[in-house]
Amino acid sequence: MDLGPLLVGSGVPVAAVVLVFGLLVGSFLNVVIARLPYEDLSIVSPRSRCPKCETAIPAWWNIPVLSWIVLRGKCANCRAPIDVRYPVVELLTGVLFLACYTRFGLTTAFLSALILTGSLIAITFIDIDLWEIPDQISIPGIVIGVVLRPLAFDVPLWSGLAGAAAGAAMFLAIRWGYQWLRGREGMGLGDVKLIAMIGAFLGPRALLPSILVASFAGAIVGVILKVVFGHGQDAEEAVEVVGSDSVSGSEPEPEPESENASAPEPQSAADAEPAPEEEDDDYWVPPKDAVPFGPFLALGAIAQLLFGPTFQRILFDVGLFTN
Ligand SMILES: [Zn+2]
Repeated sequence: MDLGPLLVGSGVPVAAVVLVFGLLVGSFLNVVIARLPYEDLSIVSPRSRCPKCETAIPAWWNIPVLSWIVLRGKCANCRAPIDVRYPVVELLTGVLFLACYTRFGLTTAFLSALILTGSLIAITFIDIDLWEIPDQISIPGIVIGVVLRPLAFDVPLWSGLAGAAAGAAMFLAIRWGYQWLRGREGMGLGDVKLIAMIGAFLGPRALLPSILVASFAGAIVGVILKVVFGHGQDAEEAVEVVGSDSVSGSEPEPEPESENASAPEPQSAADAEPAPEEEDDDYWVPPKDAVPFGPFLALGAIAQLLFGPTFQRILFDVGLFTN
């Protein structure tokens, strides 16, 4: 469905509007990435604050990318450094929204592409931070993808459902296979829901090419990280790419229980015994030489979204997959 006639006519170049919209959505995604995984933090309030001096950031210092450049990456009040990731997420969102516009024009496919892209950006950075893929994004994403797919891409009603089911089935099979072969978890349920969301938006045919791009990129980054951070270890063995669990936000973080709360306070810090490391069965520590798989899946999905038909034609032409 072409939405062009509805939106064009103001005289402002549509591409510029899309870019600015993407930068603003990126600014919102920064808040989502920082707050969504924590149950007690609201996404809508309060206004963003400097993590160091806790001064609320006024709107004129909250302009995507520009404020960070003008302030040279420092808080306007206390000069504490502001992570370069904030403008990076804003710019990434802006550029990818522009790419979606170039690919789809002002269509319902474009709307669907924006929702998928925004969700994947938030999931990527939450996964990098916490090794968790939030259910609050992936599960609604599956539903929205299934509903939007026939409207956006003029495919049968069942296409998104088939994509979600095929994706989930594939990753569950890998999950069980890995557990059976290696005796430990290699693919978290978070990734299962993520691939289902990707299948819901992009359909069953996009799954294998997405996973292929993800695995290839994951292998390359794994080798690079091993060479850079390996410190003389065997560089032949790549850094492992491991799946992430999902988090629903309703599960409280396990808190180490204080066993000696009633014990008398030590006279000074020097008297204090070093606290024994609390072993918590529920708390999973990511392996040292590992990177989460979610961001690579997101990359594979975005590659499919933007270059899908070309990419699939190449793969099917060389006979890697038969249709
Ligand atoms: Zn500050």
